[in-house]
Amino acid sequence: MRRVVILGSTGSIGVQALDVVRATDGLEVVALSAGRRWEELIAQATAHGVRRVAIADPESAEAARAAWDGEVLSGPEALAELITQARADIVCNAIVGSAGLAATVITLTEGIDLALANKESLVVGGELVIELAAATGAKLLPVDSEHSALFQLISGEDQQPPGTIERLTLTASGGPFRGRSREELGDVSVEQALNHPTWQMGGKISIDSATLMNKGLEVIEAHQLFGTPYDKIDVVVHPQSIVHAMISLADGSSLAHLGYPDMRVPIAFALQWPNRQVLEIPALDLEKLAVLSFEAVDHEAFPCLGLALSAGKEGGTAPCVLNAANEIAVAGFLARRCSFLEIASVIAATLDAADFEQSYSFETLIETDRRSREFASDYLSALG
Ligand code: NDP
Repeated sequence: MRRVVILGSTGSIGVQALDVVRATDGLEVVALSAGRRWEELIAQATAHGVRRVAIADPESAEAARAAWDGEVLSGPEALAELITQARADIVCNAIVGSAGLAATVITLTEGIDLALANKESLVVGGELVIELAAATGAKLLPVDSEHSALFQLISGEDQQPPGTIERLTLTASGGPFRGRSREELGDVSVEQALNHPTWQMGGKISIDSATLMNKGLEVIEAHQLFGTPYDKIDVVVHPQSIVHAMISLADGSSLAHLGYPDMRVPIAFALQWPNRQVLEIPALDLEKLAVLSFEAVDHEAFPCLGLALSAGKEGGTAPCVLNAANEIAVAGFLARRCSFLEIASVIAATLDAADFEQSYSFETLIETDRRSREFASDYLSALG
């Protein structure tokens, strides 16, 4: 029985991770965490026999304590306590945003395997995260579907000489605004932007998918996870979201990973690695699918991908600045404080104003994240 901690269990990935646990006898949930939705969290804990949870928001934690007889941790040390006391075999980090970095660092420092959905950890502090995993021997298992696909494809070539894998390709659905020109994106609504055509996801990543920032974050994530130079990572739009990723090999062959868009597949793969869990998901029906299509990214309409690639190539603290500005801009758009196109303006202005540091500590990242959020918030307010 593998002992699992799920952080961010009330979110889209967290709920699906609990579905995966319910579908097998091989996994046992031993601790859960959420940001503020304490009633959902307590209901999950009760259903899974979990006796200890952590809640980031102090008031929500207070309310949970009054209503439940299990242990509710809160405060700055809560996640560290939750993770270290759980005697977990694996932690699934499904917290959204750079708030997830600390949990990644704690888990890897403890030498515990990490099923990582929180891509922002690798964007903000990729070098630190990868070094920690290497130092402690903890396994880093990507949950993002494209990276789970790449992990599987690349693992299959690990007996080959260096250089055999020439390129990585990540697919992007193109989001709800695929095919629209920049002019046609001026007045799109929050509801339209949240309406993703192929994946059901949390609010922040849905907006990231609509701007294509999500793909930019994923290119940085792939660079950090697999050590692949940026000029060897391609992005192609694939509206059906059936091909998740592809590797191109020195002998002219290419290997792709296919499947219906269902996050339970990569979640189960990460939690059960190196085994595969039986899931009630239909096999691909190629005759029914009939067409798999691919097209180039429209960088003029979707500048966020380019901004992410530039920040990734700059390296050091640049991706941390990019991520912080994006989180503020997306929250601003969701709160109807800026337009869809202004998301990219906030990020570009924050990157322009920042001084990057090439090497960093955890503390440097926290300070860079704070300063970038402050600048982006001021810029957003000035937009009116
Ligand atoms: P959701 O917004 O649905 O859920 C986020 C979770 O994080 C919730 O449990 C939330 O708690 C918790 N949370 C929010 N803020 C904090 C905080 N400050 N401290 C601690 N916990 C917090 O997000 P998703 O599930 O969509 O995404 C989670 C991560 O997985 C993201 O990094 C995303 O990029 C990545 N991912 C998601 C995919 C998807 O299909 N959804 C696909 C691939 C990657 P509460 O409910 O109380 O607010």
